[in-house]
Amino acid sequence: MAVAIYPGSFDPITFGHIDIARRAQKLFDRLVIAVVANPHKNSFFTLDERVHLTRQALLDEGILGIDVTSYDGLLVECARTHGADAIVRGLRANSDFEYEFQMALANRDLAPEFESVFFMTAGKFSFLASSMVKEVASYGGSVASFVPACVERALRDKLTRH
Ligand code: ADP
Repeated sequence: MAVAIYPGSFDPITFGHIDIARRAQKLFDRLVIAVVANPHKNSFFTLDERVHLTRQALLDEGILGIDVTSYDGLLVECARTHGADAIVRGLRANSDFEYEFQMALANRDLAPEFESVFFMTAGKFSFLASSMVKEVASYGGSVASFVPACVERALRDKLTRH
């Protein structure tokens, strides 16, 4: 049984992330999305909110069978805990490559038993990033074509409370 872990901040999950998850789900028997706590990065949504929104977004999109978990610390430890064989990441334009290459080599050094696997995003999502979604939403723009409705609602609620 081939198990893959798809780590990230998911702050918040977008249609770009979902596209990668769908592609990965086709190739692996089990896919686990792992939301990183990342205390060094100022996230807009709390860890609990990011996990909850990720689960809800997958449900809204009719995607079943993907587990969503969270982790703090080294990704390779989380991958071991879940019995993963591979680490899944998504690639947009070549601006992602350098960072992803560096992370993949570091992870290989730490844990040679895992392969990093990269999926190309659909062209229409190649510009899509969580940071852009947050920026558009903060100026009152519609993000309906970037994120599922539950995420759009959560962005609006949080922004009005700020
Ligand atoms: P991180 O902080 O770990 O980069 P992100 O949530 O920003 O977390 O991204 C997680 C993974 O999803 C990364 O591999 C990133 O390249 C990928 N990703 C994010 N947005 C998209 C998108 N629009 N299309 C394809 N992959 C994406």
